[in-house]
Parts: sequence; C-alpha cells; structure tokens
Amino acid sequence: MDLVYDVLVIGGGPAGRALARACAHAGLDTAIVDRHPHRGYTATYGAWADELPAGTPIKTESTTVRAYAREEHLIPRTYVVLDNARLHELPPQVQVLNAPTEARYTFNATGARKGRAEQTAVGTVVESDSTETTLMDWRNGDTFLYTVPLGDNRILVEETCLARRPGMPLSELRRRLHARLEPSGREERVRFPLDAPRAKGLAFGASAGFIHPATGYSVATSLALAPKVAQAIQAGEHPKHVIWSKRARAVHALRQFGLEALLRMDADETRDFFELFFQLPAELQRAYLSDREDVTGTAAAMAKLFRAAPWRLRAKMMNTW
Ligand SMILES: Cc1cc2nc3c(=O)[nH]c(=O)nc-3n(C[C@H](O)[C@H](O)[C@H](O)COP(=O)(O)OP(=O)(O)OC[C@H]3O[C@@H](n4cnc5c(N)ncnc54)[C@H](O)[C@@H]3O)c2cc1C
Repeated sequence: MDLVYDVLVIGGGPAGRALARACAHAGLDTAIVDRHPHRGYTATYGAWADELPAGTPIKTESTTVRAYAREEHLIPRTYVVLDNARLHELPPQVQVLNAPTEARYTFNATGARKGRAEQTAVGTVVESDSTETTLMDWRNGDTFLYTVPLGDNRILVEETCLARRPGMPLSELRRRLHARLEPSGREERVRFPLDAPRAKGLAFGASAGFIHPATGYSVATSLALAPKVAQAIQAGEHPKHVIWSKRARAVHALRQFGLEALLRMDADETRDFFELFFQLPAELQRAYLSDREDVTGTAAAMAKLFRAAPWRLRAKMMNTW
C-alpha cells in the first residue's frame, strides 16, 4: 500500500523544494515528486534581501543598486543573487518520488502555466570585479540592461524585455546584447509568462500565480511563504488562505493593472514611467515591488506616480490613449 504523506509537492523548482523543506522542518511527513532530482538550477535567481526569510542561501550581495531611466537613481535596498546549490538541497526526511502518491495536502509546484504576456531576456557572463547591481538601465531603447555580480570576478549582463505580448524574440535580444558587448561562452536565456492563469486546486510558486505581473519576480515570495504554509498545516489550518489571502488577491489585481499599463507604453513612455517610479519614496517603491499583502501601499505608489505623470502618460496608464 502507498504511504500517505502529510504533504506531497509536485515539482522540484525553487518553490517546490522550499515548500518541501519547510514542511519537513515543521515535522510534517513530506514527499516531493521531482523527475530530475539531481539536475540543479541554471537560472540566476535575484531578489531583494529584505524580502527573504532568515537563513536564505545567498551567493552575492549588492549594497549599491542603481537604476537608470532619464536619470541615474540609487535604490536604498540590498539586492542578492541566491545560491542555487543550497536552494536545491533537501533535508533527508523529504522523500523524493518519481510519481505522485496519496497525501493529505498535494501542492502543484510545476511552474507557470502558459500566458500571453512574457518577460524575455538573453544574458552573458563576463569578467568584472564589480559588486554593484544595475537593476534596470533604460537608456538604450525599449529593452533594458540588468547587471548583477555572480562572485569570482564574474557578472551577468542581461538584455531584458520587461513585458511584451507575445515576448520579444530571444534572437532580437541576443542581437541587442551583442551590439553592446562581446559575449562569453555561457548564455542565460529567460522566457516566462507574466499573466499566466493560476493552476486549479492547491498550488505553490509560479503555478500558483506568484509571479509579480509587472516585474516577473516570484522566487522570494515562494521562499517567504513556504514556512507560513508549513506552519498553517501544522496548526491544522487549510493553507489556501495563506497562499492567497484577500489582500494578496487585491494587490495582484493592482499589479495586473500595472502590467497592462506597461504593455501599452512605447520606449519613451516606459523610460518616463520608470523615471517617475524611481523618484517615489523608497517605501512606496518597496510596497509596489515587494509587499504582496500591502493594498494601501501598492495603491498609494500607483496613485502618487499617476499624479506625477504628464497627461500623455496618464492617458496610457488609464487606457484612454
Ligand atoms: C532564466 C530565468 C531567470 C529567472 N530569474 C528570476 C529571478 O531572478 N528572480 C525571480 O524571482 N524570478 C525569476 N524568474 C521567474 C520565476 O521566478 C522562475 O521561473 C522560477 O523558477 C519559478 O519557480 P517555481 O519553482 O515556481 O517553478 P519552476 O522553476 O518552473 O519549477 C517547476 C518544476 O516542476 C517540474 N515539473 C513540471 N511538470 C511536472 C510534473 N508533471 N511532475 C513533476 N515535476 C514537474 C519542472 O521540471 C520544474 O523542475 C526567472 C525565470 C527564468 C526562466
């Protein structure tokens, strides 16, 4: 007879493994279905340090973070690149299976469904001893350059199309990146949806719709929510209210509104938009980028940016242009 687990997680990405780890640490009988348990993560996962739970494995840390729109902006937050090898580790209590079995709670953590709006990027790793992150450099058109230190005198430089429906082809991003710099051997390719519907039933990570529609980030959310979900199960509560609270749904709707506005903007308007965004007070920038439950802060950031915007950009934001 099959063993019955407290928790079964299907999918061994950063979200699924974080959840399995947290559930095992909470003393729950936990299994994970991972079809390739020895295949590590190849993506470079970045996040704001203040979004992450204590003990998150970090590879590099930038205390100087810049963004360029019309002007240069210093962002007063620490940005990190996660340590993939440690992010992939599981404690020995977690059973790794290659097919689903019975469990009290089964979580779908199989990654994002298909969507129509996508973020795409092509990156290359080059030698540099810089420890600074450039979150966005919009000075060169409708795609931006993202630069993060990887340690060992290497940095990742990525030509990124933040949001397009459908996504900008990787061939075009590669052409733009190579026009800026000589590529190295290792190429990072990024393509994922920003508006994918949530998987039905109990889900976690990108399949649960954790991807921020207007930025593309989800890993920090998964890492931060995993222990909360585990605690809820341990306390005998259904975890669905932790995963999607009413406030999180409201914030998600506001962020989706932000995505639709971005999709309507041309290169000049996008640059103006981010010039205004990076002029917002740091706490409002943080609310919009990171606070999944902060309805007031998210709405306040959007309202302040709208009030500061010229009439043409306002019209684009409201879809009246
Ligand atoms: C190259 C790249 C870079 C990114 N960079 C960042 C970043 O810097 N910061 C950030 O926050 N986000 C980033 N993202 C976006 C997003 O956060 C990532 O896609 C992230 O990997 C999502 O994590 P996840 O665990 O939810 O899903 P996934 O990483 O997609 O993992 C899902 C796992 O489930 C497995 N699976 C699928 N179907 C089944 C099945 N039927 N049975 C069993 N297993 C199955 C898959 O093989 C995969 O291992 C990036 C995305 C890409 C593609």
